[in-house]
Amino acid sequence: MNRNTNFDILPDRYLFKEIAIRASLYKEQHPDQRLLRMGVGDVSLPLPPAIIEAMHRAVEDLAYSNTFRGYGPEEGYEWLRQAVIDNEYTPLGISLDIDEVFISEGAGSDLGNLSELFDSKNSVAILDPSYPAYMDSSMMAGRKIIPLPCTIENGFVPDLPRQKADIIYLCLPNNPTGTVLRRAELQRWVDYAIDNHSIIIFDAAYEAYIEEDDVPHSIYELDGAQKVAIEVRSFSKSAGFTAVRCGYTVVPKETGLQAMWMRRQCTKYNGTSYVAQRAAMATFTPAGKRGINANLAYYKRTALIIAGGLTALGYEVYGGENAPYIWCKTPDNMTSWDFFDFLLNECQVLCTPGVGFGPSGEGFVRFSAFSQREDSEEALLRIKNGFRETLCVRPNLSR
Ligand code: PLP
Repeated sequence: MNRNTNFDILPDRYLFKEIAIRASLYKEQHPDQRLLRMGVGDVSLPLPPAIIEAMHRAVEDLAYSNTFRGYGPEEGYEWLRQAVIDNEYTPLGISLDIDEVFISEGAGSDLGNLSELFDSKNSVAILDPSYPAYMDSSMMAGRKIIPLPCTIENGFVPDLPRQKADIIYLCLPNNPTGTVLRRAELQRWVDYAIDNHSIIIFDAAYEAYIEEDDVPHSIYELDGAQKVAIEVRSFSKSAGFTAVRCGYTVVPKETGLQAMWMRRQCTKYNGTSYVAQRAAMATFTPAGKRGINANLAYYKRTALIIAGGLTALGYEVYGGENAPYIWCKTPDNMTSWDFFDFLLNECQVLCTPGVGFGPSGEGFVRFSAFSQREDSEEALLRIKNGFRETLCVRPNLSR
């Protein structure tokens, strides 16, 4: 047996593990201090009643022989796939066949698994910084990586790669920067993919946070995208399903990959839980929509409060307007981890070090809007006071 030595070049620890280790070490040494978790990408509000009721009913279905279900279709129940098309794509003027929609247990696994459809020699272009799963799964597969820096200088709009990229991961709104591409900017990527016979894996996990009209909700709003793009979506951040686990992936037939993905799923995936699919279905009912829209409104408001609060304290911040993430430049050119440690030790506030999302994230930290509102407000207060009490570093208050 030969091990997959590609694992040897991965960072030792997954970013969020490292944060958890530093936080628990601090808690051990300071058991009386309350840490405010302002970095995590996990939701905090309970699921709306309409969704909980749908899950209860689904559990009851499994209790009686006349309603019992066993394995469902690998690609998901037809009623849910049709509801996805009717609610998410038809209103955008996008036409999809039902067998182009695949229900999943969430975006995370599909984002990595999709790479099985491509030759191992294919190169992969990845936003830098971005959600670590793209980079880590591409490195595990031994692919050549083409980083696409997203920086203040380019307004977080990456340049098209100079060398040919076979696979391109785009995440919009981007985690961690919270920034977006406008319609014309995204069209350039679709055109590039058409010209270069590339495929775009478009992660739209945060689509529900988009507020501005000129920002596409789906890549299929762009001309020609059904030829070159796979879209991955999740109920995790739109409906609070991080524990429930449900998402979906659209593989248009025009990509030439739909039958391959179907074949792959039939072999390696035995379908998404019936209860999770019933819960997802409830997000499309009037009561379900009201519930999740209320939760989304809460997180969006929190994002604006954090972004506004940090700006008022003199920080340079990005994102937060179309995304639940606020990308904050560290003060005095501190490194991401130094600022993380500073906020942990002086303010008992946890953020996420930007460098953990890629080299271009150095000198930034990510705040998330998913925590309770009171915690976010207290965190802002602590950051303000933390700097007042610590003379060694200060944000650039001249801005
Ligand atoms: N894509 C992005 C950009 C994310 O930030 C996350 C989770 O944080 C995921 C995908 C994974 O989502 P899921 O819970 O559906 O697996």
